[in-house]
Amino acid sequence: MLKEIKELQKTAFSELNKAQLLEDIEKVRIKYLGRKSKLSQILKGLKDLTVEQKAEVGKVANIFKRKISQEIEVKITALNEANLWPKIDITIPGIKNARGHIHPITKTIYEICDIFTSLGFNVVEGPEAEKERYNFEALNIPLDHPARDAFDTFYLKDDLLLRSHTSPVQVRVMEKEKPPIAIIVPGKVYRPDAVDATHSFMFHQVEGLLVDKNITFSDLKGTLSVFLRKMFGKEVKVRFRPHFFPFTEPSADLDVSCFVCNQKGCRVCSDTGWLEVGGAGMVDPEVFKAVNYDYDEFSGFAFGVGVERIAMLKYGINDIRLFFENDYRFLKQF
Ligand SMILES: [Zn+2]
Repeated sequence: MLKEIKELQKTAFSELNKAQLLEDIEKVRIKYLGRKSKLSQILKGLKDLTVEQKAEVGKVANIFKRKISQEIEVKITALNEANLWPKIDITIPGIKNARGHIHPITKTIYEICDIFTSLGFNVVEGPEAEKERYNFEALNIPLDHPARDAFDTFYLKDDLLLRSHTSPVQVRVMEKEKPPIAIIVPGKVYRPDAVDATHSFMFHQVEGLLVDKNITFSDLKGTLSVFLRKMFGKEVKVRFRPHFFPFTEPSADLDVSCFVCNQKGCRVCSDTGWLEVGGAGMVDPEVFKAVNYDYDEFSGFAFGVGVERIAMLKYGINDIRLFFENDYRFLKQF
């Protein structure tokens, strides 16, 4: 019987060696290890043996079973791996994952905030759904004020609206804190403008406010000149052009010399040599009154810049809609 088992082991291994496919291996397994296998046939004769003989045959039979099972496993694993290889061509270059980055508008906001925080300003944010009081009244824009037309507004309900500028946050901060105050306020604003190359119903502003004792217009000029030169290059000239805003007095429009044409005149600056980038002025006493500040004791300046405007000038973008269309071909350039 022992001899029979050893013979069986020989043929089993030789058949297994020849097996090239999974199904051939399976056939070998059934043939030598299945319920009707040759081994089972041989072991039927066990009953005629002595106890010692039974023990020895049993031991040899078990070793055979274990060896052939192990060999079958090894062979199946190797075959499976071999089957995988042809599907992976390791010489083909990998697929590069697109690497994300921040949006050009966010990038511009970060740049603006970086410059002002380096000058000691704190970044503050406020709600986009705003009350009339903060968007208008406290900023010296009463209901019947003609300036209110210039701030056309999306109303949500009753006195709740989508803020038309970031200036309401000035009032919110001054209501809570006493001077000195030095803040900048980045954020979205909303106006029901028809969308075209230079208008959008939603855009971004960065508002600034500085209030303390003895703040003068020269502080405003100095601070904003530093900002604009850091933003557009130290060779740009800065111009303050008289203007009107309800919440500042005196007020000015903020221009930088056209860095596209070096003031020779071009399409970007409409041949004027200057680019408007925002507005500024000394905080109107009416605004201080609304937040119970003593306007004999304190003075301050405020300003606002359009983020899209700055980004368009800085990167030579000619259509504001490009920022919001989520066109990957545009966005990946930044
Ligand atoms: Zn120009």
